[in-house]
Amino acid sequence: MSNRVFNFSAGPATLPLDVLKKVQEEMLSYDGKGMSLMEMSHRSKEFEQVIHEAEALCKELLNISDDYRVLFLQGGASTQFSMVPLNFLTEDKTADYIVTGSFANKAYKEAVKLGNVNVAGNTKEANHNYIPSQDELTLSEDATYVHITSNNTIFGTQWNEYPDTGDVPLVADMSSDIMSKPMDVSKFGLIYAGAQKNLGPSGVTLVIIRKDLLEKVPETLPSMSRYDLMAESDSMYNTPPTFAVYILKLVLEWLKARGGLDAVNQFNLEKAKFIYDAIDNSDGFYQGHAQKEHRSLMNATFRLADSELESTFIKEAAENNLVGLKGHRSVGGIRASIYNAMSKEGCIALAKFMEDFKAKHSK
Ligand SMILES: *Cc1c(COP(=O)(O)O)cnc(C)c1O
Repeated sequence: MSNRVFNFSAGPATLPLDVLKKVQEEMLSYDGKGMSLMEMSHRSKEFEQVIHEAEALCKELLNISDDYRVLFLQGGASTQFSMVPLNFLTEDKTADYIVTGSFANKAYKEAVKLGNVNVAGNTKEANHNYIPSQDELTLSEDATYVHITSNNTIFGTQWNEYPDTGDVPLVADMSSDIMSKPMDVSKFGLIYAGAQKNLGPSGVTLVIIRKDLLEKVPETLPSMSRYDLMAESDSMYNTPPTFAVYILKLVLEWLKARGGLDAVNQFNLEKAKFIYDAIDNSDGFYQGHAQKEHRSLMNATFRLADSELESTFIKEAAENNLVGLKGHRSVGGIRASIYNAMSKEGCIALAKFMEDFKAKHSK
């Protein structure tokens, strides 16, 4: 495995090596059947078992009550940007959006096309380097839902304490921090997450939805946009992304074997500390984008004081097997994405490289 690099890509992102090996092992003949799972009917007993186990593992890991359904949909998180308002932002209703980054803004823009929207918070003025506090929010009296983005992948900020929305369902795009720590699902009406950051490959989107919301779905919607039909058919209204669901299931098994989400959180805290310490102990050579108390444990964003050195940083990092570090153009600089599957060794190697690079290039 000496040709494996440390991949800090924001997504699709690194997967656990054990999972990849298992997929490789089962590639040509799954469960002795003489064919790959990829080649099997989604109605086969093998695949039905895979999807049921994936659902059961989600429930177990996140401690999800029977008031919720777990769905595996397609179209990525971006499809959820419109599916949420199509289902719940019906006539005469208003939805609140808290815009803390690029994806939050994309979600907001889709909702605006479909109904009344109130921007309950927007951190754009500060180039999204923080998460608003409760008293900075202007929530509507009786919104149909409040939408947040739990981790801002591009800017590197993360909600620690979710807003209090009373009886109004909280809807969260958790694409980039789902299952990175224990989460109280009962605080949410709906959670969605594209799998390709923390849960598996691209192609499958996890949706966790409170059952009472399924009753509000307008029957006039196109079938593929209806949460109620997706739930009734156990995510098999049409052919689901079978191979992606299978890999996601293996990732969930891997998370469980690590000791569940408490252990995963401890591990993620330790990992992020290596990188943030390297920033904070650099005498300003590295400058973090996010305000310290809102820093993401999943995406560390920083600039070099001498921005002309940034391309050299990325180039020399790659020579050291540290890849995928270029920041998004709206922030610039460097972004190290260190999702669940990034190893501690990878974070230590990056922190060490940062120190060495500083020693070599500071005047
Ligand atoms: C990556 C990402 C998206 C986009 O996901 P797609 O599956 O590509 O549609 C949306 N929201 C957040 C927070 C993300 O990190």
